[in-house]
Amino acid sequence: MAYDEENFMQVKTLSLPKLNKLNPTLESTTLKLMEETGELAQVIGKFRGLSGENIIMDDETVLNEIAKELLDVAQTAITMMFVMEEQYGVNIELALKEHCEKLERKGYLSLSSNS
Ligand SMILES: [Mg+2]
Repeated sequence: MAYDEENFMQVKTLSLPKLNKLNPTLESTTLKLMEETGELAQVIGKFRGLSGENIIMDDETVLNEIAKELLDVAQTAITMMFVMEEQYGVNIELALKEHCEKLERKGYLSLSSNS
């Protein structure tokens, strides 16, 4: 876990690639995001023993599967951000700044120093 010295908070910085062998659209990435979140929910169900099948994987294996599916979700979200920027001119950097301000407004995060 890294630390953002300027804003006095822990951050996780994730660099995920632009998929240069695909031609994603807003619609295709939205569907993919739903598909991947479904897969994530499925493996979490396995971890909790809610899948109805006999558990054949140990906890470590299932946790590893959860991490993999979570990265699929993150990759799809990143791909969708590239689409928003490149095809629709959306300023993701500005949206990120507003996102953090929203988190602070809601009381989930303190961006001010010495707190
Ligand atoms: Mg997946």
